[in-house]
Amino acid sequence: MKLRQIGAALGGMLLAASLVACGGSQGGNATASSGSNGTDSAAPAKYKIETDVAFAPFEFLGTSNQYEGIDIELLSAIAKDQGFEYDLDAVGFDAALQNVQSGQADAVIAGMSITNERKEVFDFSEPYFDSTVCAAVKSDSGIKSLDDLKGKNVATKTGTMSAKWAESLKDKYGFTTTEFKDSDIMYQDVTSGNSAACFEDTPVMKYAISTGSVDLAVIEEADAQSEWATPYGFAVKKGQNAELLKKFNDGLANIKKNGTFDEIVNKYTKADASTSK
Ligand code: GLN
Repeated sequence: MKLRQIGAALGGMLLAASLVACGGSQGGNATASSGSNGTDSAAPAKYKIETDVAFAPFEFLGTSNQYEGIDIELLSAIAKDQGFEYDLDAVGFDAALQNVQSGQADAVIAGMSITNERKEVFDFSEPYFDSTVCAAVKSDSGIKSLDDLKGKNVATKTGTMSAKWAESLKDKYGFTTTEFKDSDIMYQDVTSGNSAACFEDTPVMKYAISTGSVDLAVIEEADAQSEWATPYGFAVKKGQNAELLKKFNDGLANIKKNGTFDEIVNKYTKADASTSK
């Protein structure tokens, strides 16, 4: 009994000590202060950066249970080049944007499209990847075009450009929409036959199809010249974390110059379908 009490007390002390150590030297405090006071010239020791949970080839949980992908490797290479530290949390796309807007995190890297609307509340890095949006259906569904979606329901992902695109088309084509938090859950709703189609970023949808991870087919792509074709950027809350944004841009320029950028992008976009299933 006595021993156990001592053990519990010791455990409590250790826990308290580790919490102090964490708050004192790491990102916890620093992140909070940068979030609430981004004009402060003291950059946090460690930035808190957020990403999506399932958005291959930009971010996805790899076979070794570690996050992999273009965004993950770009950020790592840029941080190394610029000498900054960060914690990366995969919280989902919509949550990532909200956490940065509310000052709970410093930045988002999540295949995030640079749009005029978002520029009102975020500052973006230089663009690093061109993208557009598409609609996809189950391969054997017989659905060939948006016209075939009349009277049907389609799946979209909360807070995304592709969801906006779907909303802009639904009256014209006579379909309804249901929102999902993450891409993988949205795809499942289509492969299970529940929704007739899903709307997604084209490079992401095509990657999932080419790796064989989903049995879907693209039926429509937004015009590359339209407002729906927007490149991806790294984002911080507007007016905050200017030093982090500068580091990202400087690092991006450096890794473009030294070939690392192309290496990372080619690794995921030029890889053949044998890499994952
Ligand atoms: N590029 C899209 C957007 O910014 C989707 C991003 C995502 O789902 N991670 O809205």
